[in-house]
Amino acid sequence: SEAAAPALRIGVLDGDDIGLEIVPAAVEVARAAALRHGVAIDWQPLPIGRRALDTHGHTLPPATLEALPALDGWILGPIGHRAYPKVPEAINPHPILRKRFNLFANVRPTRSYPGIGCLFDDVDLVIVRENNEGFQPDRNMLLGNAEFRPNDEVTLSMRVITRTGSRRVARAAFELARQRRRHLTCVHKDTVFKLGCGMFVEECRKLAPEYPDVLLDDVIVDTMAMRLVRDPQSFDVVVTTNMFGDILSDEAAGLVGGLGMAPGLCIGEGDVAMAQATHGSAPDIAGRGIANPYAMIESTRMMFEWLGHSRGHPAAVAMARSMADATAAALADPQARTGDVRGQGGTESFTQAVVARLAQD
Ligand code: ATP
Ligand code: MG
Repeated sequence: SEAAAPALRIGVLDGDDIGLEIVPAAVEVARAAALRHGVAIDWQPLPIGRRALDTHGHTLPPATLEALPALDGWILGPIGHRAYPKVPEAINPHPILRKRFNLFANVRPTRSYPGIGCLFDDVDLVIVRENNEGFQPDRNMLLGNAEFRPNDEVTLSMRVITRTGSRRVARAAFELARQRRRHLTCVHKDTVFKLGCGMFVEECRKLAPEYPDVLLDDVIVDTMAMRLVRDPQSFDVVVTTNMFGDILSDEAAGLVGGLGMAPGLCIGEGDVAMAQATHGSAPDIAGRGIANPYAMIESTRMMFEWLGHSRGHPAAVAMARSMADATAAALADPQARTGDVRGQGGTESFTQAVVARLAQD
């Protein structure tokens, strides 16, 4: 009935450690969902990370960087950069990618599922973390490192907040709140960081008149850390600066089963989306088939949902909906799900449980 949509061009950047297990799992699930809904996908594996260093002499080879602008989106696995050799070719590619493609908003949902060890059975919130400022200043600002040591006694850590950076992430959060329960909470510490956090809150408030249907409030970050544990149900969309968002999203993940349950999507002004789980490469559990692929699968699902809306591609939206249903069903099966979420299964059993549901009619 509908005109055939062009194939979505999706990069696969598998990363390190458990990335080599959970990224293929996410691709397998997406393939099954795409098949079910007739979504054409042109998958493009691109070297990155430790293996790219060995095969291409760089953890972010030029060929990978050059291929990305032609894509609609990509799946980015976690990077084990702390174990990289200390050579200039072994950089952490993540910040480079976020900055190069202006992916300033990191959307990190937290949601309860029954039976998996959530501390509450009714959490449903999204943290929108500013992704390119804070204590990780943009290279374009020519600040180089975020930290320096003028003498052996003193270390200075610089945090950059800009009006433009604050406004654009606030806008992304307002837009998201509008699609959800229309409640946005700005988290900051303007009592201490009067200029930096002050600017961030100010830019959030300045946008409020454009979103009269969204309730905007704000919470100081330490109070937020407490309230996330006491009454996480009182939050819908939360917007905050880079490091607060990093810390609070791990805390939020802890409410609902841990880091294996913490997906993320990086978006920006452009029209690409980058699926990136909140967790790292977990070298302690890599290679044993026990990593929880949920976060990577769900990040991938978010990317297809986002692409479906931004490209006017209803089959991709339907594909994302089926992935959500199949993932929820697999999570409800203790034989299928992984040990971190009270299951007896592993990466493969969970993945196959999701795929099997997508293959049913
Ligand atoms: P980063 O600096 O990249 O954020 P990190 O030090 O925060 O890394 P992670 O790799 O995110 O560490 O994970 C911390 C621990 O959480 C891991 O060592 C692992 O035990 C657990 N973990 C993380 N991701 C998963 C997952 N997908 N499945 C199961 N356990 C996980
Ligand atoms: Mg971490």
